[in-house]
Amino acid sequence: MTGQRSELIVVIGAGQAGTELALGLRREGYAGRIVLIGQEPIAPYQRPPLSKAFLTSPQTEESLWLRAPGAYDKAGIELRLATRVLSVDRAAHVVDLDDGTQLRYDKLGFATGGTARQLPGARRARNLHSLRTMADAVALRSRLVQGRRLIVIGGGFVGLEIAAAAVARGLSVTVVESQPLLMSRVTSPFIGRHMKEVHTAHGVDVRTGVGVAELTYGPDGQTVDAATLTDGSHLAADEMVAGIGMNANVTLAAEAGLAVADGITVDVHARTSDPDIVAVGDCATAAHVLLPRPVRLESVHHATEQARVAAATLCGKSRLYAAVPWFWSDQYGTSLRIAGVIDGCDSSVVRGDPACGSFSVLHFRGDTLVAVEAVNAAADFIAGRRLIQQGAAPDPDSVADSKVPLIVGSG
Ligand SMILES: Cc1cc2nc3c(=O)[nH]c(=O)nc-3n(C[C@H](O)[C@H](O)[C@H](O)COP(=O)(O)OP(=O)(O)OC[C@H]3O[C@@H](n4cnc5c(N)ncnc54)[C@H](O)[C@@H]3O)c2cc1C
Repeated sequence: MTGQRSELIVVIGAGQAGTELALGLRREGYAGRIVLIGQEPIAPYQRPPLSKAFLTSPQTEESLWLRAPGAYDKAGIELRLATRVLSVDRAAHVVDLDDGTQLRYDKLGFATGGTARQLPGARRARNLHSLRTMADAVALRSRLVQGRRLIVIGGGFVGLEIAAAAVARGLSVTVVESQPLLMSRVTSPFIGRHMKEVHTAHGVDVRTGVGVAELTYGPDGQTVDAATLTDGSHLAADEMVAGIGMNANVTLAAEAGLAVADGITVDVHARTSDPDIVAVGDCATAAHVLLPRPVRLESVHHATEQARVAAATLCGKSRLYAAVPWFWSDQYGTSLRIAGVIDGCDSSVVRGDPACGSFSVLHFRGDTLVAVEAVNAAADFIAGRRLIQQGAAPDPDSVADSKVPLIVGSG
């Protein structure tokens, strides 16, 4: 058992990472008080379905809860919802809450996630959406009405998943992506090209290499009617979504004097520049033993794994964050699974035939396999992830042959 019963650990942010951190503390044997604070008004929930099945089906909010509400009580976690942390005084070990109260912490966890980026210069309009929270998804779902014209600005994962959901709901969809390729921030050109073909085959008008120059508003100023693109083309719309990524919520940490880059800077133990404070999930830029430089990852697996490491750290144990990060996306019937991080790779091998809709791309740094992108290729994903974890250096010619199974341990 670690931690005196009088000790208090405060976790800021009741998303995937904060919830896992709070529960992980109990698994590590921490016996003190835990307060998990979330500014959203509903119980902690999964975000991935918000851009997928939630948009196409009558799923309830409750069906997305991470844990049944009783689980927090049972674990002795005080869950404070609809409550925002306003400031952190590290010298006094105090957090200020927006209900006017203060908590004196012994240890602190930041799990503040991120906020959807807004289109620069765009005014608020009731048919201009972004998607980060349950409230966003409920609003967007109600506007996906058959026959409407939807423009999705941003061809990243969330934007493309919304496009696929909107097609399923019978909307006419255009995707506008300023980069030459879709999903180029986190996937290789092979995947970007393939997914463009998949969306085009489903009737989506995919425009890459072109940005939004201007939005036109209706006479009441409350709705957006059209977008003029940087190539001069003009697209009328009934609904628009800005799927242009998110900014990590780092202001609170920066104001508290913690080291911050694009996320809160943490080491391989999820420890910030203050030894009493960890940071986890989308808000943290983390050193990782398998990656050449610190990265800020946005995935459920990462949030969960890093939170487990952070829980151990707060309990005085030394555990390294060494799991291979992975991510998934579902668009139409296409299942994309990515293990590892392609940034910094110097060669790639395609395994299988993209024209058949099932293939994978394996990426190497030197001789070492460091990332696998698998499109409808679950076996390649599972084997590839294990090979990356092993630090394997499989022969590129043999892994390119899809008739030869990827063998774990052959490297
Ligand atoms: C639409 C969508 C689809 C996704 N799809 C996938 C997918 O298919 N696969 C995948 O692996 N990942 C996916 N992701 C990413 C994944 O959901 C995130 O990586 C994960 O949820 C991150 O969890 P987190 O706890 O770090 O942050 P968040 O989930 O953002 O939680 C942070 C919480 O902290 C709260 N907070 C912030 N500041 C304060 C404060 N000062 N006081 C109190 N509370 C505060 C926020 O309101 C929020 O509730 C998706 C994300 C989105 C938005």
